[in-house]
Amino acid sequence: MEQNFKNIFIEELCKIINLLSPSMDDYLYVYDFQNDFYYISPLAAKRFSIPSHTFHDVVNNHKKFVYPDDFPKLQAELNELITGESCSHNMLYRWLSVDGDPVWINCRGYVVKDKGTALYMAGCINEIGVRQKADNISGLLGDSSLQTYLNQLSPESAKGYFLRLGLDDFKGINARLGKVYGDMVLRKTAECISECLLPGQKLYRLDGDEYLILDFLNGKAEDAKNLYQNICHAVERFIISNNYDVIYTISGGIVESKNMDELSYANIIKLTEFSLDEAKRRGKNQSYIFRKEEYNDFLKKLTLTSQLRVSINHEFRGFEAYFQPLFDTKTHQLYGAEALMRYHSEDFGMVSPAEFIPILEETALIIPAGRWMLHQALRACKDIQQYIPNFKISINVSPVQIMKSRIVQEILSAIDQYDISPNCVMIELTESELLETDSRFTKLWSNLKSQGVSLALDDFGTGYSNFSYLSKLQPDVVKIDRTFTMRALNNSYEYNLLSLLSDMAHALKLKICVEGIETKEELETICQLIPDYIQGYYLGRPHSAKEFMEKYSIYDFCNIR
Ligand code: C2E
Ligand code: CA
Ligand code: CA
Repeated sequence: MEQNFKNIFIEELCKIINLLSPSMDDYLYVYDFQNDFYYISPLAAKRFSIPSHTFHDVVNNHKKFVYPDDFPKLQAELNELITGESCSHNMLYRWLSVDGDPVWINCRGYVVKDKGTALYMAGCINEIGVRQKADNISGLLGDSSLQTYLNQLSPESAKGYFLRLGLDDFKGINARLGKVYGDMVLRKTAECISECLLPGQKLYRLDGDEYLILDFLNGKAEDAKNLYQNICHAVERFIISNNYDVIYTISGGIVESKNMDELSYANIIKLTEFSLDEAKRRGKNQSYIFRKEEYNDFLKKLTLTSQLRVSINHEFRGFEAYFQPLFDTKTHQLYGAEALMRYHSEDFGMVSPAEFIPILEETALIIPAGRWMLHQALRACKDIQQYIPNFKISINVSPVQIMKSRIVQEILSAIDQYDISPNCVMIELTESELLETDSRFTKLWSNLKSQGVSLALDDFGTGYSNFSYLSKLQPDVVKIDRTFTMRALNNSYEYNLLSLLSDMAHALKLKICVEGIETKEELETICQLIPDYIQGYYLGRPHSAKEFMEKYSIYDFCNIR
C-alpha cells in the first residue's frame, strides 16, 4: 500500500474526490496529517455543520460538528491514526447536521504511510440513517444496527436484561400537536433515557415510539425496574421544563436474559414486545417483568384464538350448545333452560367459557358464535316444547353483539323462523353501566320488551350493582350470581341484603332467579328467601340438547325437594 500511494499528491486526490462527489450518496475525504488539512466532498458542507469542505486544524475543527458525546472517542481514535499506532479507521458516531441535529455516520478510512510515518488517510463517510441503521429523529441507532450488534454477540457475555420502553398514547400527541412536535417528543424522550443509563448500557430506537435498552452488566429485573422509574422521573422533569405543553407517560417491558432460551434478535424482539404490551394492557404508565408462565398463557390464547376462528369458519366444529335446567320454586316444575356455549379445542380439550368467551368478545367472533347459539337454542326449545309446552329458553347476549351487530332483528327473525312464542324466549344481559346509559342498550331493551321477549339482568351482585336501574329497566328476571349466593350463604349480613333485595324485586313485580345452588342445604336456606326460580348443579348440570331431552322431557314434573 505504502509503495503504491505514498507519491500521490493530495491535490490530485482532492480533484478526484471533487469529480466523483456529485454522483455519490456517500462522502469521500482525505485527511493530510503532515499539513493538518482535511478535504471532503463539497456536498458534505450542505448537509453537516462543517466550517467548509476544506479546513486546517482538523481535530479542533471536528469539535464544531461532531456530536459532543461522541467527540472524546473520536479524538482518541484520531490520535492513534496520527501517531501511526493504528492504520485503519471504522467508526459509527454522530455528526451534527446544518440544523444542529445529530446524524449517525459510518466513517471508514485507510492510512498511507512512508517508512512508518503516517502521511494521510483517505476514505468514505456514509449516513447510516439512510440505510435504516440509525434514526435521526431520536438521534439513536436503529433496528438494523441492533440486529448487527446482536448477531455478533456471544451468549456468555450477554448477561443482564432488556428493557423495552414505549410512549403511552403517542398517536394522540402526533394527532394533537403535529408530527414535528411528535418528533421533538421522541428526541427528548431519548435524551431522558440516555441520561439515566450506566456506562456500557446500550440504547436503540425501535420502530414507532419504542426504545430498547440492553444491559449486559449483569443487571437484574429489580435494577431494570429502578432504571424504568428513573426514566419516568426524567420524563416528568422534561414535561415540567416544557411547561406542560405535552403530558405523557411511558410503559416498560423487562426481560432478564436468563429467562430467554435463545438470545437471537427475533426472540429478543418477540419477548420484549410481549412484555411491553403486557405493561400497557395492565393500564400503562408501569413496568412489567416477563414471566414464562404468563407468556405461555399468552401463546395458548393466540392458538385458541386462531382455532376458534377456524372452527367458526368450518361450520362451528368443536362448538356445542348445552342446556342447564331452570326450576320454578312455587310449582317445583322444570320451567326452562339456560343455553350455555361449550367449546372443544383440538389441542386443549374442553375449554371453559370463562376462557373462550372473552376471546370471542375481544375478536368480535362472539357475533357469529352468538348467532349460531341463538339458532341452536331456539331449535332445541322448539323440540323440547313438543313435550313441555311453554318451555322457556334463556339466551346470553354479549355487549359486543349489541354494539356491533343487528342483534334485535336477528333475535326477532329467528323467533319467527322457529315459530316460537316470543314470551318463551328470555335474553340475559349482564348488568353494566352501559345498560343504563348507552342508547343502543336501552333501545334493544325496550324493542325486545315491546315484542314480548323477556329480559333477565344477569350476574346481579358482582360488579356494577345499581339498585336504581331495577326500577328504571324493569327486567322480568334478576339473576343472582353464584358469588352473591355464596356470600349470602356464609354471611348473615349478605343474607339479609339478598333477602331485602328479593323483597324489593317482588315489590317491583320482578322475578328472582338464584344461581349456583350446589347442595340440599344451600337449596333449603335459599328457598327461605322465596326466590321465583332456581338454577344450580344440585338441581341439574348443563347437558347437551340430546341428554337434556332424555333426562327431562319424560318428566313434566320434577320434585326438587
Ligand atoms: P352465566 O351466564 O352466569 O352462566 C351461569 C354459569 O354458572 C354457567 O357457567 C353454569 O355452568 C354455571 N353454574 C350453574 N350452576 C352452577 C353451580 O351450581 N355451581 C357452579 N360452580 N357453577 C354453576 P359456564 O357454562 O361455565 O359459563 C360461564 C359464563 O360464560 C356464563 O355465565 C356466561 O357469562 C358466559 N357464556 C356461556 N355461554 C354463553 C353464550 O352463549 N353467550 C354469551 N355471550 N356468554 C356465554
Ligand atoms: Ca347467564
Ligand atoms: Ca349469571
